[in-house]
Amino acid sequence: MSWKEFPKVELHLHLEGAAPPAFIRGLAAEKKIDLTGVFDEHGHYAYRDFDHFLKVYEAATEALKTPDDFKRLTQAVLEELAEHNVVYAETFVSPDFCGGGDVGAWREYLAAMQEAHVDGVTLKGIVTCIRHFGPEQAKTAALCAAETHGDFILGFGIAGAELVGTARDYLWSFDCAREAGLRLTAHAGEWGAPDTVRATWKDLGVERLGHGVRASEDPALVDDLAETGVVLEVCPGSNVALGLYPDVAHHPIARLRDRGVKVTVSTDDPPFFHTTMTKEFENLERAFRWGAEDFDALNRTALEAAFCDDETKARVAKQLDEATP
Ligand SMILES: [Zn+2]
Repeated sequence: MSWKEFPKVELHLHLEGAAPPAFIRGLAAEKKIDLTGVFDEHGHYAYRDFDHFLKVYEAATEALKTPDDFKRLTQAVLEELAEHNVVYAETFVSPDFCGGGDVGAWREYLAAMQEAHVDGVTLKGIVTCIRHFGPEQAKTAALCAAETHGDFILGFGIAGAELVGTARDYLWSFDCAREAGLRLTAHAGEWGAPDTVRATWKDLGVERLGHGVRASEDPALVDDLAETGVVLEVCPGSNVALGLYPDVAHHPIARLRDRGVKVTVSTDDPPFFHTTMTKEFENLERAFRWGAEDFDALNRTALEAAFCDDETKARVAKQLDEATP
């Protein structure tokens, strides 16, 4: 069946990574920016592997220059979320792509993003530093996050090339964000082995892990994750597209869930990975025979792990209650 109408909650979505290719092509044409190599002959984003994906991602963001570009991007992303009945989403936003770390400029970009609106969809932001830009630039991102913690910016995290440096290199940034009251998440266990998942989780003190799926290779770590209730932002379509697993049937999400780990489902960078939240649900149904009860449980876990306040959670829970068949 199609799960399009089923309500959804998504916690792991990179704002620039959610940009529809046609939107980026349009912006690039307006600005006369050459994006040769970013798209394939079908107009999809083109990349060979994860490192090349990061390069193409950064090249595509070249078209996103002004706060108004980010307002239009946010509007396009909200409309896509609404199309798939995502009622609540948290999106990663990066000062590195929005004013280069200047707090004043960052505020303008955030204000512009918040002008975008679609009825029925709540969107919140998590500031991410980019790991392969290094610890010094991460500090700038953390300071931007700390300065703008509020109704929209709720959390801080780290994305990018996971195998660069160690989690501890970014400790200052995470401490800074924590002291400012931000909630914390970090990409780990997508490329990194279980020991790097444990190091990132413990050293940075995060309450959610982006991906985290390679933890499945270490039974003791799986037990720890289950016992402490740390939440995994799992993105099966992304992992399959980047070659971590041959298909969703071989993805460890079901095993992790069966072992008591709190899992949620997200799309990461949907047009890059030819996915949507609807497709994710359809693939999980096909691979593991998950149905309405399972997807409702995923939504409730995600909402519980969301970084928004209780009032917002109650409002979104009501939307889920009303829309869940
Ligand atoms: Zn991600």
